[in-house]
Amino acid sequence: MDPEKKENCGLFGIFGDAEAVHKTYLGLHSLQHRGQESAGIASSNGEFIQCYTGMGTVRRVFRTGRGIFQKLHNPIAIGHVRYSTTGSSKAINCQPLLAEYSRGQVAVAHNGNLINATLLRDEYEAHGSIFSSTNDTEIITHLIAKPTHISNHDPLAHVLNHLQGAYSLVFLFADRIEATRDPYGIRPLCIGQTDKGACVVASETCALDAIDAKFIREIEPGEIVTLDNNGLHSRFFVTPGTVTPAHCIFEHIYFAKQNSTIFNENVHELRKKIGRQLAKEHPVEADVVIPVPDSGTSAAVGYAEESKIPFDMGMVRSHYIGRTFITPDQKLRELEVKLKLSVIKEVVAGKRIAVVDDSIVRGTTTRGKIRTLRQAGAKQIHMRVSCPPIRFPCFYGIDFPTKEELLANNRDLKQIKEFLEVDSVGYMSLEGLLNCATLPADHYCTACWSGKYKIPVDTAVNKFSMERYQMQMFKDEQ
Ligand code: SF4
Repeated sequence: MDPEKKENCGLFGIFGDAEAVHKTYLGLHSLQHRGQESAGIASSNGEFIQCYTGMGTVRRVFRTGRGIFQKLHNPIAIGHVRYSTTGSSKAINCQPLLAEYSRGQVAVAHNGNLINATLLRDEYEAHGSIFSSTNDTEIITHLIAKPTHISNHDPLAHVLNHLQGAYSLVFLFADRIEATRDPYGIRPLCIGQTDKGACVVASETCALDAIDAKFIREIEPGEIVTLDNNGLHSRFFVTPGTVTPAHCIFEHIYFAKQNSTIFNENVHELRKKIGRQLAKEHPVEADVVIPVPDSGTSAAVGYAEESKIPFDMGMVRSHYIGRTFITPDQKLRELEVKLKLSVIKEVVAGKRIAVVDDSIVRGTTTRGKIRTLRQAGAKQIHMRVSCPPIRFPCFYGIDFPTKEELLANNRDLKQIKEFLEVDSVGYMSLEGLLNCATLPADHYCTACWSGKYKIPVDTAVNKFSMERYQMQMFKDEQ
C-alpha cells in the first residue's frame, strides 16, 4: 500500500450457500487491497444475525480460524474490509455495523463517504439519539429505524433518498441481503453467481473469481438488488437515466485490482491503454522503462509498448512489510521507502530511465523512490505519471491529504520537477485519460484533478468531523 494514497473499503455478500462464511472470508481476502485497517463478517441463519469484527487485515482478524467460523456458520453472509475515510481507525468503527430496531436486526457494510452525515447526525442528536461510533455509516441504521421511514411502502428506498454522497452499501437483514449504489455510481459494486446458484455481490470482480463465481453484471447507479429465497430482484430508488453517472476514474488508475472489471472495463487493459497514450503525450529518450510496482506496472507496459523502449523491473516491492510505524523523522521515512521498494541495481545503473507511476499525491514518497534510484547509479530519471496532477482533495471516499499538502497544489511543472529531483516530468492530460476510457467523458468523476465536484461538498467537513470527543472502546483490538 502506498502510504500517500489510502484505499477506501471493500464489500462482499453471498446468499444461500452452505459455505457462505468461508466464501466471504475468501472474497474479503481478494479485496484486501481496498482496506487493511479492519475486517468483519456478519451472517444470518434466516432468523438471527451474528457479527464478528476486529482491527487489522482479514488474516489477522480471523486468525483463530475454525472457532470463529463455526460460530458464524450460516448460509447468508456479508463482509467488509475498511480503510477509514470518515471516523478514525478504531474498533468502534469496524464494519459490518450491527444494529437492532423495532423490525429486527440489520448489519450494514459501506464503501464511500456520506457528505451529509454530519448534518443528519446533528439533527438526530438534537432529538435525543445517541451514537456508539464516529463513522458516517451509523446514521444509516438510525434512518432505517425511524418510524416515519418504516411506515413507507419501500423503507430502504426512502432511506436512501435521504443520503448524499458516495455509497455502495450491502445490508444484511435476517432473511435477505440488499445491495445498492448511489445514484452517481461513484464506487463499484457487482453481482455474480456460483455454479450452485448462490447469488453474490462484491466491490470488484476479483472477489467473484476468488470463489469461482461467474460475473453477471454491475449493480446500476440508483438500483437496489435484493438477494433472498426467491432469487435476485431489482428495483430503483431514482428513475434510471435521470442522473449522469460520476464513476471514480481513480478506481481504474490506482485502487482496483488489475484482474478486476469495474465500470464495464478491465483494469489492467485500461491502464495499459493509458500508458500508451502517456508515451504519445510525453515521449522520452531512455534506455529502459520501469514501473513503480504494483499499481504503475500495467501503465508502464503500455508506455514501453508504444515507445519501443525495453520494459524491465527496476524496483521490487516487498509484500511482507505491513505498517512499520516509522513516520516522524524524514531520514527514517526514506529508509522505510527503501525497505518497501528495493532497487535492482543491475537494471538501473548507468541507464537513462523512464519511471512510470500511477499518480503523485504529496510527492515525498515519490522523491524517496527517485533518491533510491539515483543511489543505485541511474544516469537520468524521467518521471511519467499516468494521471493528471492531483490538485484537489476527494470528498467521495478516498483519503487524500488536504489541498495544501498536495504536491501539485500551487506548484507548476518546473517546481514539481525540482521537488522530485528528476530530469523531466510528464503527466497524462485529463482529456487523454478520458479518451482512453470506454464510457463517455461526462460519466466519470474527475474532481481531484479538475476541482469540479458533481455532488456539492462542504469543504469544512473532514474525516474527523464526528470525532467530537475521545470515544474509545476496546473490543477485540488484538
Ligand atoms: S475526487 Fe478523484 S478520487 Fe475522489 S471520487 Fe472523484 S475521481 Fe475518485
